[in-house]
Amino acid sequence: MKAKVLIVEDEPAIQELLAFNVMQAGFQALRADDAEGAWQQIRASKPDLILLDWMLPNTSGIVLAKQLRADAAAKDIPIIMLTARGEERDKILGLESGADDYITKPFSPRELMARIRAVMRRHVPQLQEESVAVGGLELLPAAHRVSADGKNIELGPTEFRLLHFFMTHAERVYSRAQLLDQVWGTQVFVEERTVDVHIRRLRAALEPLGKDGLIQTVRGSGYRFSAN
Ligand code: CA
Repeated sequence: MKAKVLIVEDEPAIQELLAFNVMQAGFQALRADDAEGAWQQIRASKPDLILLDWMLPNTSGIVLAKQLRADAAAKDIPIIMLTARGEERDKILGLESGADDYITKPFSPRELMARIRAVMRRHVPQLQEESVAVGGLELLPAAHRVSADGKNIELGPTEFRLLHFFMTHAERVYSRAQLLDQVWGTQVFVEERTVDVHIRRLRAALEPLGKDGLIQTVRGSGYRFSAN
């Protein structure tokens, strides 16, 4: 069965171009012109990835990304945000809204496909992987679940992978560049500040259970997961 990519884009020419490239790459293309259409597609045929335009009529891509992340059925679907806005603060805003990656228009189809493949690869469930328990946290890779003291912790897909990497590589310091290579993959072109955004989100998710201190900032070097 082909993986499904939902394209949410209001400009017909760009939507067509995206759909063409998505299908060329061997995926099934689903389309929506706005947030309402996107929800219909998500409910009807749960996509594996969403290409989400920032500038949409009525509900913006940023608002839709936040709604998706708050929705029980849609929160685990990876999102790549598409936008004409290339400013640093916009990138951070895009990632903070829940997007997993970000691409600025105009982009080459080749670059876009590389990003889609990288995001898809990261979200394939690793069914053989064993559960990990460190620092009072238990992580079940196949079930995509993390808990502390029997309480579930809700994490976005990137935070989940980041925590999985940390828990399987505890007590060692990793630079932002190393984390990008290990967690995001070498084919993804994201900036090092992206790491800080996801670390912040991960700590915020762990904080209610008093586990945010497990993720330590090592000044001038990077981050370390430490149970000591
Ligand atoms: Ca648009």
